[in-house]
Amino acid sequence: MPGFELFGPSEHKEVNDVLDSGILMRYGFDAMRNGHWKAKALEAELQTHMQVKHAQLVSSGTAAVSVALAVAGVGTGDEVILPTFTFVASFEAVLMLGAIPILVDIDDTLTLDIAAVKDAITPKTKAIMPVHMCGGMARLKELKEICETHNLKLIEDACQAIGGTYEGKPLGSYGDVGCFSFDFVKTITAAEGGAIITNNDDYATWADHYSDHGHDHVGSDRGAETHPFLGYNFRISELHAAVGLAQVRRLQEFLDIQQKHYTILKDALKSIPELTFRTIPEEGVENYSFLNFFLTDLETTTKAMAALKHAGIDGCFHYYDNNWHYVRKWDHLKEAKTLFPIPAQTKEALNALSTKSFKQSDHYIARNISCLIKLSWTEADVKQRALKMVEAIKSVL
Ligand SMILES: *Cc1c(COP(=O)(O)O)cnc(C)c1O
Repeated sequence: MPGFELFGPSEHKEVNDVLDSGILMRYGFDAMRNGHWKAKALEAELQTHMQVKHAQLVSSGTAAVSVALAVAGVGTGDEVILPTFTFVASFEAVLMLGAIPILVDIDDTLTLDIAAVKDAITPKTKAIMPVHMCGGMARLKELKEICETHNLKLIEDACQAIGGTYEGKPLGSYGDVGCFSFDFVKTITAAEGGAIITNNDDYATWADHYSDHGHDHVGSDRGAETHPFLGYNFRISELHAAVGLAQVRRLQEFLDIQQKHYTILKDALKSIPELTFRTIPEEGVENYSFLNFFLTDLETTTKAMAALKHAGIDGCFHYYDNNWHYVRKWDHLKEAKTLFPIPAQTKEALNALSTKSFKQSDHYIARNISCLIKLSWTEADVKQRALKMVEAIKSVL
């Protein structure tokens, strides 16, 4: 997944353009910037790649999710349905807006289980936020139908799945708003950064204002701009956008390498009859940033992880024991350990997570191993890796 593995001359050139002009800010200073508008150029590239009307860059993927929720009208006391398997940023963004994260079970897609989503809907539900984890995707058609029936917004957290598609559409472009992250370990990186994409003109305008202190961005005199509403500073810098611009132009190159490496590993693992693969909905094409598979039970999976480590295989994760990605270890969330006071109803909803059973999620995450696909491997590296992985896993079955 990490685009940082392949930094080259294009990243250097884009960054040097910005340093040479000296204007590190994405807005204003028109006369001094030698015609360089890296953030604007990256937004234009994203619109083309993602086949959407609008793209708005922000300072991180977490900011992207926050802005997406805000423009979708999510606020105090609203409930947002999201999966038990995600990155902590998803619930952080919900809580930042005063809304309540409602965690529900995942299925064999490693994302939202449709029945669990339906069960979780209440009069307070405002949005459903599938998280396309590890390059695969949620059952978006079913989720969209639920959203239409209940008048909810569909917000795609596609931070880990840039380049994947569903019904031929780029992931992130299927729902009302889509979110991307360009943090250091993502498929394309800007060091830090993120984006939202949408076809909704109002959402685009609101995201533009909200992410820059509510500035209306009318005219070329920043000091004379008005503030139609309150906002925050979620701006990306020109330096970060410059790196992202070079990287987005290489997205297809990265995806092709990932698919090649992924396919070699997957074909090798198919020789293990006890091993099954994560389900990708038939409408979808993943971005091949991770290869995910299931073993028979928790004990075998734990042993397989140890065997992989012993064989020198790095970059494989067992999220069951991980405190960034899976509900089981999110004690700070369950105990509602916030820096400042939050409403009692939010606290109650969070505390309730500690007694809630997520048996179905456990069933999948306990048996899941997720292996990062690197760009910098040679074909010989991948083939040798495949042999070692098969041998290690077979040794514990
Ligand atoms: C990385 C990530 C984010 C947040 O992105 P940052 O840029 O690190 O803030 C959000 N959601 C998911 C699923 C992620 O993997």
